[in-house]
Amino acid sequence: MKKIAVFTSGGDSPGMNACIRAVVRTAIYHNMEVMGIVHGYDGMINDEFIPLDAKSVANIIHRGGTILKTARSKEFLTLEGRKKAFANLKKHGVEGVIVIGGDGSFKGALEFSKECDIPFVGCPGTIDNDLIGTDFTIGYDTAINTVVEAVDKIRDTAESHDRLFFVEVMGRDAGLIALRAGIGVGAEAILIPETKTDVEELIKKLESGRKNKSSKIILVAEGDDAGGAFKIAEQVKQRLPYYDTRVTVLGHIQRGGSPTAMERVNASRMGFAAVEALMKNERNIMIGIVDKQITYTPFEHAVKHIQELNPDLMRMVNILSL
Ligand code: ATP
Repeated sequence: MKKIAVFTSGGDSPGMNACIRAVVRTAIYHNMEVMGIVHGYDGMINDEFIPLDAKSVANIIHRGGTILKTARSKEFLTLEGRKKAFANLKKHGVEGVIVIGGDGSFKGALEFSKECDIPFVGCPGTIDNDLIGTDFTIGYDTAINTVVEAVDKIRDTAESHDRLFFVEVMGRDAGLIALRAGIGVGAEAILIPETKTDVEELIKKLESGRKNKSSKIILVAEGDDAGGAFKIAEQVKQRLPYYDTRVTVLGHIQRGGSPTAMERVNASRMGFAAVEALMKNERNIMIGIVDKQITYTPFEHAVKHIQELNPDLMRMVNILSL
């Protein structure tokens, strides 16, 4: 293999740049040329290819976002769009592609491989950590650290005013950001889509736990079955008017920021392994890290999933909270 391409796709996540850097430097070490594709599948269709050398990825390991930009491409969903993308890959002499993104990006690559003979290898880039085939996705560790830092600040003001705060974090289908960050901040309750939220039970806990602590922080994943933070807070406010209740939605700050040390290491390992997988003639697989080892998972299995939550962890959460 003489020339490969790399691109980022779907939602951005911190650590994508560290992964791009590892791909570029590993490929150059193995005497390959590397093209970067800007704006994900859209850039593949619109011929946004740029050559990347070792220097072009200098000083990016610590930067959030993605230097290659990212996009969600409607055109790639069409056969015509994918044909244009294939013609551009051929035009640039690309023999293998590394896609850094979520399960949608892998589905796209799988669809593409049915029509076009160019191998794809994926690296999991998403803050939600909800993909089968890896213990940690690129972006998750940084996202939970960002939440912890923000909630620590909220705790300061909550404590000063004896307030009850509902803090909403990202996680439409999965509550893994709320769960780990919630443990990290010592949240009084963690409400996630994977477990049934009983608002009556929460109200009872808040009533009985009133004297234990002056401030209270409830972490709510945006996809919680009882609704978002505003909806739950409203119900609690009506029943417990003596609580000074506030709501904060953390929003997009959870996607940005400098990746943590752990993130940089994992993303580098995955980018490095992705190039070596292409060299071993692997195709249509996602690189993961499971129990500290690099693993390969076929794209068709690397789908979003609702993780079975560790019962011991959940028991601990209940004991340590309110
Ligand atoms: P995130 O987890 O951040 O949402 P993602 O990779 O899952 O990332 P998607 O928007 O679902 O993000 O997918 C990225 C792109 O992959 C889509 O915009 C689309 O261009 C392409 N794609 C997804 N599914 C398919 C498919 N079935 N066929 C062709 N292309 C697809």
